Amino acid sequence: MVEIKTPMLPSNKPLIVGKIDVRVGDHVEQGQVICQIETAKGNHQIKATEAGTIAEILVEEGREVVANDVLMVIDEQGKIQPEQQSESNKEILTTVPTDTVQHHLEKDLLVIGAGPGGYVAAIYASKRGMDVAIAERKKLGGTCLNIGCIPTKSMVQSAHLFELLNEMDLFGIEGDFHASINMEKVLQRKDEVVDTLVSGIEYLLNKNKVTVLQGTAHFLSDTEVQVGSTIIKAKNIIIATGSVAASLRVEGCDLPGVIDSTAALDLHKVPDSLVVIGGGVIGLEFAFIYNTFGSKVHVVEFQKSLLPMLDADAGKFIEGICKEKHIQTSTSSKVISIKQTVEGEYIVAYEKDGTTSYTIADKVLMSTGRRANTNGLGLEHTSIKTNKRTGEILVDEYEQTNVPHIYAIGDVSSKVKLAHLASQQGCVAVDHMLVEKHPISDTNVPSVVYTNPEIATVGYTEQALKEQGIPYKVSRFDFSANGRALTMNQTEGFVKLLASEDGTLLGAVICGPDASSLIAGVTVAMTNGVTVEQLTQTIFAHPTTSEAIREAALALIGRGIHQ
Ligand code: FAD
Repeated sequence: MVEIKTPMLPSNKPLIVGKIDVRVGDHVEQGQVICQIETAKGNHQIKATEAGTIAEILVEEGREVVANDVLMVIDEQGKIQPEQQSESNKEILTTVPTDTVQHHLEKDLLVIGAGPGGYVAAIYASKRGMDVAIAERKKLGGTCLNIGCIPTKSMVQSAHLFELLNEMDLFGIEGDFHASINMEKVLQRKDEVVDTLVSGIEYLLNKNKVTVLQGTAHFLSDTEVQVGSTIIKAKNIIIATGSVAASLRVEGCDLPGVIDSTAALDLHKVPDSLVVIGGGVIGLEFAFIYNTFGSKVHVVEFQKSLLPMLDADAGKFIEGICKEKHIQTSTSSKVISIKQTVEGEYIVAYEKDGTTSYTIADKVLMSTGRRANTNGLGLEHTSIKTNKRTGEILVDEYEQTNVPHIYAIGDVSSKVKLAHLASQQGCVAVDHMLVEKHPISDTNVPSVVYTNPEIATVGYTEQALKEQGIPYKVSRFDFSANGRALTMNQTEGFVKLLASEDGTLLGAVICGPDASSLIAGVTVAMTNGVTVEQLTQTIFAHPTTSEAIREAALALIGRGIHQ
């Protein structure tokens, strides 16, 4: 028997037992939240220290407690062993012994993977009345919260504020700033932001009565999944196991100074120099962060432009910005080897137009895309079909696989790997289980690059329209003619709109201030069939950067005013 006691909690008010999430007889996993203690600083979650069955609950909600009061007793006899968690980000193939199986669960829905695809699907399904379990082998929040979108944006914000200091004088603010980057504090803040959001998800899953299973989920058949020693039978299953970094297999790719994006989020010293292999979204975000922090950065990209998957004008724009910021870029360049010098630096050799060139740096960031993660999932025990080349699970427009009760969402099944798309796909899949059909339009998915200035796009690129022979009109409004941008001293960039002859919006590229937020306006318009003319009849507040969208729309029908 294990006693769960009230911990020592700093609080100048009495500690009160908040919500109790379990009942006597419930099975709990190690680490599962079993109740809350309300303190002066907010709620503190009490977690099971062992897996087992709740034998006794010695307090009730609303009761005052002090440190060391026994809250509950867990009978860990017959406990379910939580599977060993991998601390590293390396993917581990796990084989689960079947002879230790002691627990069976039946659910309406099992979600595998608690990234922005999985956890959103789980909560949404619970809100829609399903009895849901979610399995996660690492940390709740997945790539996005722990090693992706959120930590990078915390560092982007540090870089942005640091850069702004150079403009203080221009805005009439004088002072002796002596600013420098303290990486320990940058990383600490990033970790705090991540921890806050991860515990928020834990709270939401608990609040919505989603059973959280820690461990690698492994298919035994099309109908049974094992997590640790629990076997789950669910009416529906969503696979949301995300993606992993796809490393370029060249000589030297395993050297210690060759890092991936996860390691780039944890550098305790700013490298003097950094080569970034891959000029896509993730590579460029890190190039801009470390360039601002003081590294000499060189981006080497295989394709003929940076951000090759976006509209060509976005690539041209960011190449110009890189030049201004002294970020060296080499496009149409194929990395062929990485070698370490005796001084511990790294020489990256790359070929361009038949000539081999070399670049040297303290660190090399490998940022060459991501691939679907089905490692350890046991797909071989199912009849689920995958794309043989990319490894992605094949799904239809409702995220349904060829096995009707199994769905796959997010990076594991999508070519476009974005957090908000994964979340939306989760909701589409749940709706489909409930016989509601809301297919996602592939074209209306916004995408943001957090460089400075930012870049945001939605819809078709101009080159795709040309390739597909779709007739179009194009307009462009520069931020240099936008009042708000001028007041912000952020006049570089433009809004570019693409539309059909009949005024249907086909795509947008926004490079410049507020691009990440502005793209939402165009996305709403495109998703709901708002025409160019209707957009011009919409009133945009003044002075805002959003006025550039209306101006670009006006220009499409030959009525542009400010340019
Ligand atoms: P993930 O977030 O990868 O979650 C999958 C989860 O499944 C993981 O927690 C994993 O541990 C778990 N799992 C895997 N296998 C199993 C198993 N067998 N059993 C149990 N659990 C399992 N996207 C944006 O939209 N905006 C951004 O700004 C952005 N920035 C990024 C920056 C970086 C550095 C990186 C790497 C990515 C970024 N992305 C961004 C992409 C975004 O993180 C992904 O598109 C998103 O996380 C995909 O969500 P998902 O739910 O499909 O998978």
